[in-house]
Amino acid sequence: MSLINYHKIKKEITNQQKLIAVSKGQDISKIKMLYDQGHRDFGENYLQELIKKSEVLPADIHWHFLGKIQTNKIKNIIQFSSLIHSVSRKKVYQKILNTHVKKQCNFLLQLKLGNEDSKDGLSTEELLKIVEDHDHESLFCIRGIMGIAENNISEKEKNNQFQICKELFLQLKENYKNIDTLSLGMSSDYSLAISCGSTMVRIGTKIFGERK
Ligand SMILES: *Cc1c(COP(=O)(O)O)cnc(C)c1O
Repeated sequence: MSLINYHKIKKEITNQQKLIAVSKGQDISKIKMLYDQGHRDFGENYLQELIKKSEVLPADIHWHFLGKIQTNKIKNIIQFSSLIHSVSRKKVYQKILNTHVKKQCNFLLQLKLGNEDSKDGLSTEELLKIVEDHDHESLFCIRGIMGIAENNISEKEKNNQFQICKELFLQLKENYKNIDTLSLGMSSDYSLAISCGSTMVRIGTKIFGERK
């Protein structure tokens, strides 16, 4: 755990960006330590872990869901998250719309970057179609785009992938008033992501150390 890194990152980001501390695989005590520094936004990838942590930690934490979404868990993911970053399939999007909600449900559409088959995400065409057909006055609120750059690519290639996200984001932001979030950047590439217009960085190991 490095509070020094935490404060260093906080200094690097401007008021245009929000830091999500990715706490998956990390102890409650570490989360508490960051909470005591005033931090309120934490990211998790697994529903059971999120629920367990939210039960023992203060209620004013905003939980961000970053993990793969199983359609049978959507109702609970919506209930426990203030923002879902990882809507990466049309089927998941449709399942979200079919969920009965009483409060606004905020989510991002994950754009597929690069050509690796293992990478999740919607194509640009799929993503645009979803946004165009969406009822933006409903309780289901598309807030923007999430991207994960591929590993093992050059800085230049990474920059290209982030630019693609940025351009699509700016295009949508201009046309839809709810769209205000570009979730881009992790421990290894957040500085580049910020320079590419990210409004939300998701940082785990750089703050908390290695995961269990
Ligand atoms: C785990 C995870 C992160 C944090 O990764 P670090 O390299 O530890 O900063 C960010 N985003 C997503 C989607 C993740 O799954």
